[in-house]
Amino acid sequence: GATYIAQNEERDGVRFSWKCAVSRLEATRMVVPVASLFTPLRERPDLPPIQYEPVLCSRATCRAVLNPLCQVDYRAKLWACNFCYQRNQFPPSYAGISEVNQPAELLPQFSTIEYVVHGGPQMPLVFLYLVDTCMEDEDLQALKESLQMSLSLLPPTALVGLITFGRMVQVHELGCEGISKSYVFRGTKDLTAKQLQEMLGLTKPAANQGRGPHLPSLVFCPVRFLQPVQKIDMNLTDLLGELQRDPWPVTQGKRPLRSLGAAMSIAVGLLETN
Ligand SMILES: [Zn+2]
Repeated sequence: GATYIAQNEERDGVRFSWKCAVSRLEATRMVVPVASLFTPLRERPDLPPIQYEPVLCSRATCRAVLNPLCQVDYRAKLWACNFCYQRNQFPPSYAGISEVNQPAELLPQFSTIEYVVHGGPQMPLVFLYLVDTCMEDEDLQALKESLQMSLSLLPPTALVGLITFGRMVQVHELGCEGISKSYVFRGTKDLTAKQLQEMLGLTKPAANQGRGPHLPSLVFCPVRFLQPVQKIDMNLTDLLGELQRDPWPVTQGKRPLRSLGAAMSIAVGLLETN
């Protein structure tokens, strides 16, 4: 029940937008996308970091990490991915595993795990900030300062992006010196990833069919919403400093209308393009 959920949130610093499994039909009706809020770099002094690579699901479109909730067949040395149901073989180094000889990542207490991966990640790290601006000025000021501080802690090559939301969602373009430009979306409108990419100018124009007047070469120009932090940290620091609380009036006794679901959908759509 609620206590179990609270204990897990307390232990792992993770909070989910949904706390129970839903059917496929229910999933199509969900307004809030499945998401989790987690606490980056949360310290777990009770758990040692793991000095080997995580075991990943073999399905190329999944690549989920082996975890204590996966079903394991110790005799056949197989594990079932709990995201895509793919059955995976354990790597040869796991030949000795059994019910009584489990690797750390299968032990229930390792619901949070920290891997020390040698050689670094193969993909650039991406930090897309989603900032809720429906708050008091004092809180917003503290938030801005924390965000500005967090920029200085990121690896210089990490890619960063900024989406702010209140009643509307703003996707900020980064990297244009001295000009702040953003794309504004209504929180009430659902967009597919494809529609979003078109609106942000992230799709290549259709090939010229050879009909109609010859247009001057409108070169496909991808707008950069994710930039290396070392390139735009000054710019982004300024941008964060100028953030204002959501200007829309709030009805007496009501909470502000905030477009969290739309902001998350847009964030996912944006990440899918990059
Ligand atoms: Zn999988």
